[in-house]
Amino acid sequence: MTLPSEFLDRLRQLVGAANVLSADGDTERYRHEERGLMTSICDAVARPGTADDVAAVVRVCAEAHVPIVAMGGNTGLVGGGVANGGVILSTERLNRVIEVDALNHTMTIEAGCILADLQKTAEDHDCFFPLSLGAEGSCRIGGNISTNAGGVGVLRYGNTRDLILGLEVVLPDGRIWSKLNGLRKDNTGYDLKHLFIGAEGTLGIVTKAVVKLFPRPRAKVTLMAALPTLDYVLILFDRIRAACGDRLAAFEMVPELGIELVTRHIPDTRDPFAERHPWYVLMELTSPRPGDDLRAEVENAMGEAFEAGIVVDAVFADSETQGRALWKLREEIPAAQTREGGSIKHDVSVPVSKTTEFVRLAMEAVCAEMPGLRPCPFGHIGDGNIHFNLTQPPGMDKAAFIARWADFNRIVHDLTKRYSGSISAEHGIGLVKRDELEHYTSPLDIELMRRVKRALDPNNIMNPGKIFTA
Ligand code: ZN
Repeated sequence: MTLPSEFLDRLRQLVGAANVLSADGDTERYRHEERGLMTSICDAVARPGTADDVAAVVRVCAEAHVPIVAMGGNTGLVGGGVANGGVILSTERLNRVIEVDALNHTMTIEAGCILADLQKTAEDHDCFFPLSLGAEGSCRIGGNISTNAGGVGVLRYGNTRDLILGLEVVLPDGRIWSKLNGLRKDNTGYDLKHLFIGAEGTLGIVTKAVVKLFPRPRAKVTLMAALPTLDYVLILFDRIRAACGDRLAAFEMVPELGIELVTRHIPDTRDPFAERHPWYVLMELTSPRPGDDLRAEVENAMGEAFEAGIVVDAVFADSETQGRALWKLREEIPAAQTREGGSIKHDVSVPVSKTTEFVRLAMEAVCAEMPGLRPCPFGHIGDGNIHFNLTQPPGMDKAAFIARWADFNRIVHDLTKRYSGSISAEHGIGLVKRDELEHYTSPLDIELMRRVKRALDPNNIMNPGKIFTA
C-alpha cells in the first residue's frame, strides 16, 4: 500500500510536519528491530504528542482504512511491532508523568515513558515500581502493558497486568476510552482494561495508565548458589520460600553453559566460583524495613541446604557492584548465546512444581534430535517461566541450524502442553508465534478472541495480522 500525499498532508496538519516521517532514512529506526530479524514496511511514522492527537491520527486512518501499528521502545521479541504497510504510530512523545500519589501508592503516566525512568520516578517519591526486565532502559510502558510484560519481579509482584489499576485507550474508531481512577476495588461490570493489557495493540492504543507502587526496598541481599543436580533447584526454591516468605523477590536459574558463554563472550564478567557446577541459582531478597537482617536469615536457610547436600557453594554480594555483577551473569545469557552462534529460543511456562522435570525431559528430547546440541535453559524458575534456549552444535552452519527451528518448536511445545504449560509465557504472540498459537489453542479460544477483535475493530486496522489472522 502506498499512501497518497494528501493523506500524509492531513497527518502533518494534525501532529505537525516534524512528527510525520516518511523518508526512508527517517523511518528506518522504526522499521528495523534491534536483532535485525524482521523489517517493517510502512509509508509513514506518526509521532503524536497527546492522547487527543493519537485519537485524531486514528480517526483519519480509520476513515481511510489505513492499518496502524502502535510502537513503544521497539524492543519486542515476537514481531508484534512489525508493520506490513500503513502507519507506525510511535508513542515516544507521550512521555509525561502526570501524577504520583504516594499515599494511594499509584502513579499516572503516559504510554511513552521509558520503564527505567518510571522506576526512578517512583524511587524519587520513596516508592517502588517493581516491573523490571532486560530492556528496561529503552522499552516504554505502553509496550509493557500491551504485551503484559513479565521479567524478574513476577515471583513477588506479578506480571504487568497485576500492576495496572487504570488505563486510557484510543479505540480503533478514534474515540478515547478512559478509566484512570486508580481504585483497588471496583466491581462495576466487565473490567475492560484487561482486554487491552496483553492485546499487543490489536484492540486499541494505550495512551495513559495508572500503575501500582509499593514500599521501597531498604534491605537487600543478592546471592548465587551452585547446585550439583537440576532437581535440587526446585527443592532449594521450596526451602528458601518457606524460610524467607515474600522477602524472596527473585529466583533465577542459570545452567553451567550460561556461565561458560557469558564469561567467554561478555566483557567484564567472571565466574565467581572456584570451579564450574552443573546448575546455579541467582536469588534476591528484599525488605522495606532497613533493620531486617536478610543475610542472617538466608544464610541460615542456605546453611541447612548445604548440610543436606542441596547446595555445594554460594557467593553473597557484599556491595551493589557485586550484586550487579551477579545479575549480569544471568541477564547477558541471550547476548552471549548470540555471539556463540545460532540460537533457537523458546519462552515457555509450566506449573512451578513441574519446572525441573520439564527441563530435564526437554533437554533429553532436543539432544536426541540433534547430537552436539547445547541446551541453555535459564530464567524465572520461581514463577515457572523458562527460556528454553538452544545453542547450536560447535562448528555447525548457523543457517542450517536456524532452519530447524520449527522442528524444535514441536518438540519443546508438545512437551510444554503435556504439562498444561504455555508456549509464550512473557513475550507474547506477535507474528513469530501466531501459527504455534493456532496449533496449541482450542478453536473456541481462538473464536472468542476473534469475536472480541471484530467487536472492537471491525475494519481490522489495529495491528492487523498479529496474534491471529482476523
Ligand atoms: Zn524473561
